[in-house]
Amino acid sequence: MIDVRIGTPLSPSATKVMLLGSGELGKEVIIAFQRLGVEVIAVDRYDNAPGHQVAHRAFTIDMSDPTALLALIEAERPDFVVPEIEAIATDALGTVEERGLATVIPNARATQLTMNREGIRRLAAEELGLPTSPYAFADSLSDVQEALSRIGFPAVIKPVMSSSGKGQSVVRSDDDVSSAWDYALSGSRVDFGRVIVEGFVDFDYEITLLTVRGAEGTYFCEPIGHLQQSGDYVESWQPQPMSPTALDGARDVARKVTDALGGRGIFGVELFVKGDEVYFSEVSPRPHDTGLVTLRTQRLSEFELHARAILSLPIDTTLLFPGASAVIYGGVDAAGIVFDGVEKALEVPETDVRLFGKPESFLKRRMGVAVSTGPSVEVARERARQAAGSVRPVG
Ligand code: AMP
Repeated sequence: MIDVRIGTPLSPSATKVMLLGSGELGKEVIIAFQRLGVEVIAVDRYDNAPGHQVAHRAFTIDMSDPTALLALIEAERPDFVVPEIEAIATDALGTVEERGLATVIPNARATQLTMNREGIRRLAAEELGLPTSPYAFADSLSDVQEALSRIGFPAVIKPVMSSSGKGQSVVRSDDDVSSAWDYALSGSRVDFGRVIVEGFVDFDYEITLLTVRGAEGTYFCEPIGHLQQSGDYVESWQPQPMSPTALDGARDVARKVTDALGGRGIFGVELFVKGDEVYFSEVSPRPHDTGLVTLRTQRLSEFELHARAILSLPIDTTLLFPGASAVIYGGVDAAGIVFDGVEKALEVPETDVRLFGKPESFLKRRMGVAVSTGPSVEVARERARQAAGSVRPVG
């Protein structure tokens, strides 16, 4: 076991963590650190982000600006820099590592590789030989057409720099291709007209395999099943039943890809499963949105596991109950909204609601989540859906 010392927050001995991105996932990571007596600095691109509201200090900066990012890290001198989002100046994180300013979680290279679909796909498929959908990268409409002539229909077109389904669409025939290309360009996080064309995997189900790289080894949570709409998660549940062969295959893929990325922390490994076959899709070197369900299903949530792994503390991925989460969307475009019906949602047995406290609501913005447990995943899913549906955002 590694000797770990944790200081006193707001004193010279403090153990300090800086979250880069302080949305709903960052907020829970911050709460987990707070409970361990760690001093937390929350950074986001807008004021009063969810994590800002529970940290010792809050900053609003453009995290894609390397100068601003480096200046803040130099001023605050955290022990650990913990990215919660992809859209950050990862080169600056490389500088932080080179200069020994802080430990980047899991490390600068992993944040660089996973912020771009091309980096992680080439690592997984070409270096590690993991099974994935057939794919090609394309920089123009004619490149896309050429790729589709090899990959065939249906296929999925996604900007290489995007997440949460932005700019992503399924093409079923030649007629769809030009609009899918335009849509991908509009959804790219940066002005970078490159897309990945992926063969559509006709999977039986998809999972997130939360994988924890701790100081003393790699640990797996029970698989999380989830339902996506327009590339965004609407429901998740744990455990997703899997055949022993598929589960072994999933763990093997997750271990290989997380070993290749290295460092400590939790990883959300996204996999497609068809029969006993497992296909690697993506990996996030941080807690995963579908893992919000672990707030109630596991002895330690994915956020607590992340905090423990970062601090080199012991890991325990025990599942306590089957459970499910269902997203509460904004439903309106307005600032400072109110939520009606929370009391109704909490009347549902074994159910909790988390409202993230985002200052502004959009129609499809995730504003909260209902998390339920039950005697089975089916009952828990029904409960979570019912609870999420009872909460009514009002502009
Ligand atoms: P991504 O942003 O890559 O995680 O994609 C979001 C969601 O779109 C996934 O969780 C899948 O439900 C679906 N999807 C993405 N790529 C594919 C694919 N190649 N085949 C089938 N479904 C896909």
